Amino acid sequence: MKNLINYFNSAPDFHRVLLLSFSFFLFWNIEYFYEHAKNKVSHLWLNAKFMLTAAPVQFVLGYLMNFVLKWTQNHEFGLFHQIQKVNALTLFILTFLYLDFCEYAYHLLMHKVKKLWKFHLVHHADKQLDVSTTLREHPGETTIRLLFTTLWVFLGGVSLWALIFRQFIQIFSNVLAHTEVRLPEKVDSWLSYLFVTPNFHHVHHHYLQPYTDTNYGDVLSIWDRIFGTFAQLPKEAVVFGVDTHFDECNLNTFSKLLTIPLISDKSSVKINMKG
Ligand SMILES: [Zn+2]
Ligand SMILES: [Zn+2]
Repeated sequence: MKNLINYFNSAPDFHRVLLLSFSFFLFWNIEYFYEHAKNKVSHLWLNAKFMLTAAPVQFVLGYLMNFVLKWTQNHEFGLFHQIQKVNALTLFILTFLYLDFCEYAYHLLMHKVKKLWKFHLVHHADKQLDVSTTLREHPGETTIRLLFTTLWVFLGGVSLWALIFRQFIQIFSNVLAHTEVRLPEKVDSWLSYLFVTPNFHHVHHHYLQPYTDTNYGDVLSIWDRIFGTFAQLPKEAVVFGVDTHFDECNLNTFSKLLTIPLISDKSSVKINMKG
């Protein structure tokens, strides 16, 4: 555990980029082999453009996160500084559960608050879900998500190594969740008791309510089961997208996707807001 802590305390950023690239390459090729979806390369190209808008936000807010991490450690501030007498593994499990619950709450908020939903809608407006959808996040949402993560780290007094360790697991889990290849139903029924699986997250991307407002989990599915937001749908029943009136054009160019949060409710483009 000591070696792991040392590694995650000093892991360079490019190790996370390498893990993302590896997971992406692995699952994209599995999809390519099994699903033979049309326009897969052009779809990847469209979604990959969101990396260009995410990078500067991550760069700037990375400084804020570093400041908060150092400040909470120096001042012994936050929830986990009150329970330091547990061993490192227990501390990691508690930190993981805390951050995973916070991600669940954040995701629920993005769906329920009208102004936040307009940013998150860009992720949901993908009608051809695959691993590249993982990258499809409006820079406004990237900003909101990272600010919330910084807040959770501040309130929890989360250690750098525990945060980075979780992010490694989170990256792999998020890419897997968006894979268009579903797991066999039996494997899924066991795995999804604890973890977010592709089958589980596909239901969240179904275009109709109430399914869009279910399965908010990030890495663990337990919060949806505990708080009654868990749902299941067979593969044949799932249609990706949102129940809106966007025409195809609005969904197929990067610049138009970026303007979605700016479109007023009174415009000709109707956005389906959920209760
Ligand atoms: Zn969502
Ligand atoms: Zn998603």
